Amino acid sequence: MTDPIIVIVSGPGGAGKGTLVEALVARDKQLWLSRSWTTRAQRDGEPDTAYVFVAREDFEKQIAIDGFLEWTEFLGNLYGSPRPEMGSGLDIVLEIELHGAEQVKASHPEAILVFVSPPSREEQQRRLQGRGDPEHHVVERLKKAEDEEREGAKKADVLIINDDLERAVAEIQGIIGAARTARR
Ligand code: ADP
Ligand code: 5GP
Repeated sequence: MTDPIIVIVSGPGGAGKGTLVEALVARDKQLWLSRSWTTRAQRDGEPDTAYVFVAREDFEKQIAIDGFLEWTEFLGNLYGSPRPEMGSGLDIVLEIELHGAEQVKASHPEAILVFVSPPSREEQQRRLQGRGDPEHHVVERLKKAEDEEREGAKKADVLIINDDLERAVAEIQGIIGAARTARR
């Protein structure tokens, strides 16, 4: 059994990461999307399946048993990826922020870090507001985006601008395709 390809999709809130990874797994049945745990409250209209929504106490118990591949605190909430099942034969997609991405790269140096940016700060704001984020979330995420993009440019293997969704999905599909060819 060959090792799975691990694709990490990172980027500021409202860049479109969730939309991109949903499109990727819908089109590619060999991809498995990790579902993170979070202590953040569920947003209005956010599907129940977006995260495993848990109390901080339960998250901390999971840390104590070393149940996360990576985890971090982001804007006051905990987020973590449960350790994925490695023997399924499927390649793995993680949609996580950069601190978590670094942890995954440390344990799996072959993982591919794709950093997604929005086309502009104005468009990012429109997307966050259009998604129904509470205004303080919008403000926090826009403010954090500057640092994230600076760090992303240094750490990512690939930088993608998500202006046209179809093109951005196709770019990531191309990256995964190339990694599969190289693995053979
Ligand atoms: P993230 O996961 O990066 O926070 P989302 O995937 O939730 O972002 O996208 C934020 C909003 O922007 C959603 O309402 C989504 O439908 C919209 N969106 C995502 N990608 C695009 C795009 N390429 N063009 C226009 N709107 C987009
Ligand atoms: P949001 O609250 O907007 O859903 O997510 C906030 C940030 O946490 C985003 O950058 C998202 O990619 C990141 N994130 C989501 N799940 C995880 C996770 O399991 N681990 C880490 N490190 N970051 C995560």
